[in-house]
Amino acid sequence: MHRYDERSERLADQVLAYLRARLELDPVPLDHGADPDELNRLAPSLICEEGNDAQVVLEQFAEILAPRVISVDSPRFLSFIPAAPTKASLLFDAIVSASSLNGTSWLEAAGVIHAENQVLRFLADLAGLGPGSGGCFVSGGSAGNLNALVVARDVARHRGRLPSTRRPRILASAQTHASIANAGRILDVVVERVPSRGDRLRGADVAAFMEHDDDPASVFAVVATAGTTNAGLVEDLDGVGRVAGELGLWFHVDAAYGGAALLAPSVRDRFAGIDRADSFIVDPHKWLFAPFDCAALLYREPALARAVHTQDASYLDSIHETGAWNPADYAYHLTRRARGLALWFSLCVHGVAEYRAAVESALELAQVAARKIERHPRLELVLEPELSVVMFRRRGWAQRDYDEWSEQLLASQIAFVLPSRWHDEPVLRFAFLHPLTDEAIVDEVLATL
Ligand SMILES: *Cc1c(COP(=O)(O)O)cnc(C)c1O
Repeated sequence: MHRYDERSERLADQVLAYLRARLELDPVPLDHGADPDELNRLAPSLICEEGNDAQVVLEQFAEILAPRVISVDSPRFLSFIPAAPTKASLLFDAIVSASSLNGTSWLEAAGVIHAENQVLRFLADLAGLGPGSGGCFVSGGSAGNLNALVVARDVARHRGRLPSTRRPRILASAQTHASIANAGRILDVVVERVPSRGDRLRGADVAAFMEHDDDPASVFAVVATAGTTNAGLVEDLDGVGRVAGELGLWFHVDAAYGGAALLAPSVRDRFAGIDRADSFIVDPHKWLFAPFDCAALLYREPALARAVHTQDASYLDSIHETGAWNPADYAYHLTRRARGLALWFSLCVHGVAEYRAAVESALELAQVAARKIERHPRLELVLEPELSVVMFRRRGWAQRDYDEWSEQLLASQIAFVLPSRWHDEPVLRFAFLHPLTDEAIVDEVLATL
């Protein structure tokens, strides 16, 4: 199993041939789901004492399992938040695996951490977080949000800001991602939805809430979202950040989806005030075209995070002795995949200009789609798109009509577009991100409505 013998040689040929074929797919087919009975029948377990010929196992994967996955990297995948990793990032991810790169500590992995930190620096500079900022890559936006809020809570506690008798609270908005509520449950803190007059949280909403609240001392953090997942709206980062600063609250910016648009001059001004963040996350596995799983977690003052997250088992002391940068110290993980490296490679190869153009192309397509929807006799644009999400409705349709249409659209392999909800009404939603999603695909979808 561990020698590079004849069997390994054959395996390498088989696996690399599959890899090449997957990379060559143009376009990546959308494919479909499956029910558990079908998969039990078609893909019985191959796990046994004697093992199998690799070709047999690969065939089960290639012919049965892989086509029963809706391809998130298909240009026709327009639901949730799609993915579109660059070829360079996918290929380098294979190198990361083949090299067993572990990005835990400087002692073990200086070269790797050096490269990952260059990417984090690039992202921190995009947000204007300042030269002292830093952090690490974690598995996703959910992990990033949780890790940041742990620091926010412990820092508040350490500074004696939190009353000991009541549950601490975080302020968020109605549009905040579900992972924040989940983080609240894990941390046993209350996530308070601040009412806002519009569809995005503003500084004035936070100020008014705090002014009329009967227990403001239990609030320790405010979360603003830069690119809400459902509607693609950027909340008022400048206003919320300013009020948070005045009240001494931790300001966390969740830019898991939208953060990539910091690259795009056409919308950069929407992010004004993001530089006020105490912590900030962006998911390169979304709109920065990196493979799963990759989220950047950045802190304005990383020393605060280090004090909270460092694991101080005695056998780890030699890691800490040097004072070097250990990614393990900035989140609740220890061993970690060097998951920032695929992005590092791709960014270095393609250059920032290509990334900027790819992000701009999705923003532009959102505008083009919005205008087409406005001109469509049966459709209604729900919101003017701010980033690359477009929400619209079909006049006269109820939830069931949307559901049936969506199923049919996938069955015909035209696109994967799930209905969503907006102000308690069913709506349709395009999430654009893939640079190969084009106007022709949008036209094909709109023609079915
Ligand atoms: C996707 C998303 C998350 C969660 O990120 P994961 O990588 O899926 O864990 C959090 N916040 C926002 C705004 C998102 O769009």
